[in-house]
Amino acid sequence: MDFKLSQEFITELPADPSTANMPRQVEQACFSFVSPTPTSNPSLIHTSSEMLSELGISESEAMESAFLSYFSGQTPYPNSKPYAMAYGGHQFGHWAGQLGDGRAINIMDIRSGDKKWSLQLKGAGPTPYSRTADGLAVLRSSIREHLCSEAMYHLGVPTTRSLSLSLTGNQVLRDVMYNGNAAYEKGAVVCRAAESFLRFGNYQLFASRGDKDNLRKLLDYTIKHHFTEIRSTGNTAYLDLFKEVTKRTLDMVLHWQRVGFVHGVMNTDNMSILGLTIDFGPYGWLEGFDNDWTPNTTDRQFRRYRYGNQPKIALWNLVQFGNVINFIVEDSASLQETVNWYNTELDSRYVTMMYAKLGLGLPTDHAETLINSLESALVEVETDMTIFFRQLADCSVDASFEECWSVIHDAFYVDQISTQSKQVWQDWFKDYQNEIRLQQVTDEDRKAAMNSVNPKYVLRNYMAQLAIDKADAGDYALIDELHQCLKRPYDDQPAYDQWYAKRPEWARHKVGCSMLSCSS
Ligand code: AMP
Ligand code: MG
Repeated sequence: MDFKLSQEFITELPADPSTANMPRQVEQACFSFVSPTPTSNPSLIHTSSEMLSELGISESEAMESAFLSYFSGQTPYPNSKPYAMAYGGHQFGHWAGQLGDGRAINIMDIRSGDKKWSLQLKGAGPTPYSRTADGLAVLRSSIREHLCSEAMYHLGVPTTRSLSLSLTGNQVLRDVMYNGNAAYEKGAVVCRAAESFLRFGNYQLFASRGDKDNLRKLLDYTIKHHFTEIRSTGNTAYLDLFKEVTKRTLDMVLHWQRVGFVHGVMNTDNMSILGLTIDFGPYGWLEGFDNDWTPNTTDRQFRRYRYGNQPKIALWNLVQFGNVINFIVEDSASLQETVNWYNTELDSRYVTMMYAKLGLGLPTDHAETLINSLESALVEVETDMTIFFRQLADCSVDASFEECWSVIHDAFYVDQISTQSKQVWQDWFKDYQNEIRLQQVTDEDRKAAMNSVNPKYVLRNYMAQLAIDKADAGDYALIDELHQCLKRPYDDQPAYDQWYAKRPEWARHKVGCSMLSCSS
């Protein structure tokens, strides 16, 4: 393993002069030097072969002890200088002050081919940003992050990646549902990878402290290294950065809506400046289509981060980032234009995205009505989103309603459906088939188009939980099976028929399947 280190972040940006590894406020610095804490008896559970090849690591090198040693945090890579980043954030709508990498340590930034990668260990021990927590991660949340980041990548959703998943050999104490039932769980470390892990919160922290100098340094650094397409200078460059971040964030959130992904904790510290899905915590996948659904029990009361609210919350977060930019440019009118752009674009792109899911081309005047009535039909009785859109691709434009009904029937979670609900569906199918006729698209072309945007396999909440239960017992085969299956989410894979199925009833209210908390 021979990595080409690039140390721009730690050489061009202000470092915390202290190396004391204890919880504290870190001012006027973008990061603190801190090393992972070596653990008792690490072992490698799984690697992503795509990430290995991205980083130029061979499968045999990944089996060597050096790999485990670097990527579980036992030994630093030669000449690397591990560090944790300083950031703040709005949590559930409230400013929370300094947060930072409390359990993530960037072990090295490298170049591989024409790409830049920051490699970061999550769960490798405390940092100055750990506050009152332990800096560790448990196996269950690490499996969820490892599997989901790679699955998102294969779905075509902008995301941070995961190279490897290791056990630390240590035990970690967690109170999963915050109800006084703390228990020991296996500790684990994920090595995640992204061009950068900078978040809205990194910029917010400086603005919150009135530190314009360092905010400027960080903004300039970001544009120079990560937004090379921005050619403007001075305040115009910052306004352009806001536009670009807005564009990328909208893109990301529309992908989430398309595949039925619910992030669960869209705090501004969990919003990547590059528009990547970041921090896989209490996320979940829609099973029954439901705009009000959230997997996060911590958010159960207000459902701020529910599925249907994600595009608006992304904008709320962007406005917080816009406020940071405004602190420097003092040009709220220009920033407002970008915010307005988001709103207009969101409306039109949402319709285009839904039309693509329906196998229809350019939205017509009927589009909004057709989509609204579909969303009403989908909640008439609980309807599995993933199965519905896949099955719909098999409904012919000339099929009778009864034929279509039998094709989509598998998507319903109930057997008995009232005549009234059935009528709602019948009306919708009539409109849908009319629209297909108007668009003059053949059944075959429509099916191919639909199957390229509607995944057949997603990491259903209970699937991850099954892999977790087995892994807890020392059997890692299911982690690899799911990883393999989710590499081709849009293809029919008969070998994985089992994973094209509705959520089983036992998983409906099970902790880990439909109920997740931030305790991980
Ligand atoms: P999250 O809700 O996972 O995005 O985390 C919010 C903040 O809490 C971030 O600053 C994390 O680094 C920090 N954090 C979460 N879990 C831990 C932990 N076990 N130890 C230290 N810091 C943590
Ligand atoms: Mg976070």
